[in-house]
Amino acid sequence: MDKININEFTLEELENYILDLGEKKFHAKQIFKWIHKYKILNFDEMTDISKSLRDKLKEKTYILNMEVIECQKSKKDGTMKFLIKLDDNCAIESVFMRYNHGNTLCVSTQVGCKMGCKFCASTKEGFRRNLQASEIEGQILTVERYTNEKISNVVYMGIGEPLDNFDNTLKSIEIINDPQGLNIGARHISLSTCGIVPKIYELADKNIQCTLSISLHATTDEKRRDIMPIANKYSINELIDACKDYIKKTGRRISFEYALIKGKNDSYEDALALAKLLRSMIAHVNLIPVNEIKEKDYKKANEQSIKNFMNTLNSMGIVTTVRRELGSDIDAACGQLRKKYIENNKKLQ
Ligand code: SAH
Repeated sequence: MDKININEFTLEELENYILDLGEKKFHAKQIFKWIHKYKILNFDEMTDISKSLRDKLKEKTYILNMEVIECQKSKKDGTMKFLIKLDDNCAIESVFMRYNHGNTLCVSTQVGCKMGCKFCASTKEGFRRNLQASEIEGQILTVERYTNEKISNVVYMGIGEPLDNFDNTLKSIEIINDPQGLNIGARHISLSTCGIVPKIYELADKNIQCTLSISLHATTDEKRRDIMPIANKYSINELIDACKDYIKKTGRRISFEYALIKGKNDSYEDALALAKLLRSMIAHVNLIPVNEIKEKDYKKANEQSIKNFMNTLNSMGIVTTVRRELGSDIDAACGQLRKKYIENNKKLQ
């Protein structure tokens, strides 16, 4: 019989499992704490658990261990990009960033991505599989173990589309939130989506208080379709309606991501159109100077046009910031490191 990945249980599921083993329920809390708070990798370190229960757990389960294959460290700002290997030789990326408000980890939700956004490196090697909840949360455990630092914020902005792996993404948030584990509150978690409209409604109904980021990147359906295939499925109007529903149900402001691509979406008219689109919402715009990737000829908008774009939006009452470019010397755009590795190492996927 295959062993069970014990990290995949929420605390409630672990309690049921422990009861099924004929043990007392309170042991679940102890075990959960050892794994998700103290980040141990060996059952024998669970010093307040009897040897017989430890032996039972060893026989039937295993503790998930994800291996760091490579860590690139930026000399400019301390950003660290991790390439992490999973049990089946799949590789994913996580990025550790230092901000004034605390350390942030950008996590992946899938191995590869189906969404096909033209400017994004994550999609170029196709899609392999969804990550399990424990593999999403495990990125935080792995990086905290490696750096010996605490992560206080999590952004679901790595490889993959979180809302295309909806159940596992939500389950990972539940595990990350748990006070017995990492204890990172939903308000310290941002989830980014290219805009899978029905899933935005579903997420709003769950009311989990995380920040929702929408990768908008264009203000007309025509321009959006040109760079994001998902726009063929859902119009910008449908997307905005879903966002309004999210704000109404959760009371949370939405953040719109807008990657500025030279000559494509960075004109004064684009800024006006964006302001008009978001006028009636509690929204925040995050401008991202597009990270140039080898395969595409999209160029970064120049500094002056980025500033102008921001000023236009701010002057029309839309709170707008330009994302600090972290780790620009280490392939920090999603998917770039994985892609490079797969090309050079046939064993990895
Ligand atoms: N699939 C999700 C989350 C992953 S991408 C989403 O689409 O939101 C995280 C953010 O990085 C998205 O806003 C995405 O559009 C952006 N992004 C991807 N490649 C980029 C690049 N080359 N330059 C700038 N931003 C990029």
